[in-house]
Amino acid sequence: MTTVIKCGNCGEILYEGVRVCPKCGSSKKDYSVSAKSGISVSTDMKMKHKRVGKGTIHEEVNRHKKSADSKLTKGVREIITIDREKKPSTWDQTVTDAESGEITHEEHTTLKEHNESKKHRN
Ligand SMILES: [Zn+2]
Repeated sequence: MTTVIKCGNCGEILYEGVRVCPKCGSSKKDYSVSAKSGISVSTDMKMKHKRVGKGTIHEEVNRHKKSADSKLTKGVREIITIDREKKPSTWDQTVTDAESGEITHEEHTTLKEHNESKKHRN
């Protein structure tokens, strides 16, 4: 969710941490939450498609989680899509800042490569 800070006097949009309005010099602030980006934040989703004899062939995860980056105080939204029907199986991961919606991490690879890179990291 994005918090919009406006000057309580003239309505000028202020950046976070700004003490007085650069336009009119007022220190009055009006905190409001923008409705536009508040919709997708709270819903977590996990979906699996299974096929008899093949197990899970398609997996989708959309979840909110804490970020390892302390700057991202609102956490991040992680979207993972695993497609085992493709040859080879694919791994798609997009991580966005839950506050601004900016992409902080993106990985589009095969499932095999993803698992191997994870091994190297540990
Ligand atoms: Zn002002």
